[in-house]
Formats: sequence, C-alpha cells, structure tokens
Amino acid sequence: MTHNQVRARKFAVRRGMRFIESLCASREWVAYLNGGLLHFCGSLARTAIDPWLVARASRLGRLSYQYWQDETGPPLEDASAAEVLEFVRVYSAARALGIRTSRWRPVLRKTARRHKAREYFEFDPQVEPPPSNIPEICRCGQFNARGRRTCINKSCRSRLRMQSRYRIWGMALTVAYCAETCDVELGGRYADALRWLPAMRPYELRAELSKSDFFDTAYAVTHIVYTLNDFGRFLLSPSWLPNEFEFLHDNLESAMVLHDPDLTGELLDTYRAFGVSDDDSKVMRAYDFLIESQNPDGSWGEWDWETVYSAFHATWAAMDGLREFSWKGPRLANPRLMKMLQEMVHDRDGERILK
Ligand SMILES: [Zn+2]
Repeated sequence: MTHNQVRARKFAVRRGMRFIESLCASREWVAYLNGGLLHFCGSLARTAIDPWLVARASRLGRLSYQYWQDETGPPLEDASAAEVLEFVRVYSAARALGIRTSRWRPVLRKTARRHKAREYFEFDPQVEPPPSNIPEICRCGQFNARGRRTCINKSCRSRLRMQSRYRIWGMALTVAYCAETCDVELGGRYADALRWLPAMRPYELRAELSKSDFFDTAYAVTHIVYTLNDFGRFLLSPSWLPNEFEFLHDNLESAMVLHDPDLTGELLDTYRAFGVSDDDSKVMRAYDFLIESQNPDGSWGEWDWETVYSAFHATWAAMDGLREFSWKGPRLANPRLMKMLQEMVHDRDGERILK
C-alpha cells in the first residue's frame, strides 16, 4: 500500500461524506433517508479513524435524529408492526450515536409484544428456516400473501416471483440485531435467525446464480458479518465463519466485474473485518476500483433524483470499503454466540473441524 493510495482513499471518503451532507441540506431528504442515514452516521461516528469524519457524522446523525423525533414523536401503544420496526432501527442507530432513548423503551417493548414474529420477519425463526415461498411485490403493485403463486389482483393475475430466502434471512438478521441492541423482543431473537446458518451453507458460486440471487446471497453474507461485529467495531476470525470468509474472498472480484461499487464496498469492508491487510492484492485492486469509479459529485453508482436512496447506499458502502476502521477484537459483538458458531463450523464432508 503506497502513501499515495492511503491519501487517495482518505480524500475519496471525504468527498463521499460531502456528497451525503449535500443531500442532507434539505430537511425533506433527511426525512427520506431516515433510518439508513442514522445507521450510516452511527457506524462512522463509532468506528472511523479520521477525526474529521467522526465529527461530521456525529453532527449529521444528531441533527437527523432530531428531525425524525420532531416528526414522529415517541412510540404509541397501538403502533403497527412496521412502526415498531422503524423505532427499533432508529433507536439502534441512536445508541451508536450516544443518544439516549431508554425512557421510550418500556412502551416500545410492550407494543412490540402485540405483534407476531411473522409480522416482523415474514417467517417465524423460532420454528422454521427462512422460507422460499414469499412473493415479491407484483409488477402491478399488489402485495400477495405467502404461498400465493399468482397475483390476487383480478385484473392482473400475473405469475409471481418469489423472494430469495437469502434476502428474507439477511433482513431477519438485521432486524433482530437492531431489536436486541435496544432490548426489544420481536417474537424471535437474533440467535433464532442465526441458528439457520447451516441450512443456508454452502453458498453457491457466482456462476451458478442469477445476478439477483447472487446479490441476495452476497448481502446476506455481508449482514452476517455486520451483525456479528456490530457494524464495523470488531475484527472476526475466519475460523469462526469459514464459509462466509471464503465467499467474500471468492466474490470480491465478481463485484468489480459487475462494475458495482455498492456491492464491492460491502464485500471489501466485510472481507477486511477478518483482519485481511491493506497489502492484500484483492484489497488493493478493490481500493483502486472504488477510487476510480467515484462520480465527479463525490457519490458512487448510477443514479438520478428518482433513485437517490441507491446513490446514498452506494456511497455509504464505497466509503466503508475505503475508510480506515478503529477495529477492536477479534471478538463477537455478543460473545455468547461463540459456542453456537463453533458448533456450526463443518468442513465440506460435514465433519466438525472445531470444538
Ligand atoms: Zn399483480
């Protein structure tokens, strides 16, 4: 890693931050980016090394939390499952920003118990693995219940596409992680979602997957890492997650071939979370790819004003791919999960390689 590449990374990340700040000049856009923006700020504020970045992220995070609170107020006892999820996401991000939300949590905990696990996760992780019979929203805009094969809308009746079980699982891990960080129970705990890891391994190779299945698998793997290392706080050992480490190692190149800075960024910071050094040849290529693919306005990815969220997300991911982390560990965010992880480590013949 040359001195020039270190500088180029730092400047690219700062330009990315300025782009996101420019989006947030309007209160309307802050409200639109909402939970994602708070998680972005919380993670930077807690794990970035560059003090400029920490200060900017803390300021923007506190401002956007204030806007959100003015708009939303405290949780109500008759909140819907979707509203409970929003509170859980926002409070989890607020924790990372050092904002106290403890006075609202008793109401949120009570309200959360009024809904079932399926309303939060789309399945019940205590009794079944992530399912593959949950339809995507139909192209006519209709939501369809789990198990339906054709659209219920009489004037449509299209054949429905099913959501990848990896997407369902990645969402469940993330939601359960957020709930646990603010001490709210959603009818299933993080460990209940993580328990299905053996049913999801091994991950199929890029060549065997459609592009969208590849993305869903990749984002599930990155979110296993994020939820186990508290979004960039801790280093992990490859021996705890051998299949996931192998997947990241094997697919970082694929993300660059697809010319996708969002996915490259996520695969890069999760790969580095296993202690891979800046001098690793794949890591260096990925740094160069991200630096070269940054847009003149500081953002990443192809976007227009209809798809601002995707520009925000790609910029977030690329910044995380490039930036320096103040890693601690190696350890798990929740060390009590270690025993479960070790019991799930198998070699290819299904034989246990760790005790
Ligand atoms: Zn339809």
